[in-house]
Amino acid sequence: MAESDFSAELKEVQAQLDALTARKIELENALKSARLTQLKQSQNIQSKKITIVGGRGKLGQLFVRMFAQLGHQLSVLEPSDWPNAEAILAGQDLVIISVPINLTLSVIEQVTQFIEPHTILADLTSIKQKPVEKMLSCHTGPVLGLHPMFGPDVDNIQDQVVAYCQARDMAECQWVLDSLVLLEAKLEAVSAESHDKAMSFIQVMRHFSTFLYGFHLKQENPKLSELIALSSPIYRLELAMVGRLFAQDPQLYADIIYSNPENFDLLKRFSKRLQAGIELLEKGDKQLFIQEFEEVHHWFGEYADHFLAESKRLLKAAHLS
Ligand code: NAD
Repeated sequence: MAESDFSAELKEVQAQLDALTARKIELENALKSARLTQLKQSQNIQSKKITIVGGRGKLGQLFVRMFAQLGHQLSVLEPSDWPNAEAILAGQDLVIISVPINLTLSVIEQVTQFIEPHTILADLTSIKQKPVEKMLSCHTGPVLGLHPMFGPDVDNIQDQVVAYCQARDMAECQWVLDSLVLLEAKLEAVSAESHDKAMSFIQVMRHFSTFLYGFHLKQENPKLSELIALSSPIYRLELAMVGRLFAQDPQLYADIIYSNPENFDLLKRFSKRLQAGIELLEKGDKQLFIQEFEEVHHWFGEYADHFLAESKRLLKAAHLS
């Protein structure tokens, strides 16, 4: 066969593959929707009235779409809707607050002037202690704190973790958790205090050190195009993880980092350890560095090997190794 025949056949095979992939996605979505309807009927989840305050925002829109898939009746309340708040919030089974963190407490105060005592009040805020305390103090009915541990760019919430804080009247709130389980989210119960402590390590330290990495690159001013061209896929991925932070909303990251003064203490200790690491290097004794490295390895214990295997799997799945 001539070269042109190979390339014509290759094109044809690619077109068939594309068509099959599109059909596969179509069938997967249809199957998911049929399963949801069946599960909803079998678990007798009734259609509920839900308002998402901030429901046109990034995360709010996702939750509007997810709850609507289960047949619940959704409405949203945005800044221009406050003159109609009484009508929008009347008779709601669930009201979810999903506004920027710095407005959350004042919006809770506003919302609770209108909602009825039986209405479940919940929030999606990335911090939990202050919003949960505020909801409990302003509302007499059921209260549920939620924190979706993912960004708004996911297609659905299957296998995504949603942390929840049991605040008041959990029996009344059970259908909300059941709805999330139906959508195949993984629920993780946690107290608001433990949640915020864990987030200091998971989010605050991560975001701040990523911010510093970008801040440092900016000052050093290397040629980014050259760094990218010379990076293997895994280093490019690491650079992408830094760069992607700066393509997102700085207000959200500022709110998360500034949310709790204890975060600053943690970051100051981090900075001291950075300095201690430099002093270690300046001693010029590689053996000392290796010893510290081994001690951190020991601290990670079996998680170190587990993380190595898991990251290898992820990189392979993303065709990066
Ligand atoms: P966003 O800025 O995209 O959306 C906020 C929405 O709130 C907007 O539609 C805005 O118009 C609305 N709003 C602002 N002020 C309002 C007011 N006074 N009354 C009514 N509506 C008002 O923000 P987002 O990223 O969707 O975040 C919302 C919440 O979700 C935050 O609490 C955040 O901590 C939490 N969260 C976000 C993410 C994420 O990755 N985006 C992840 C987990 C949790």
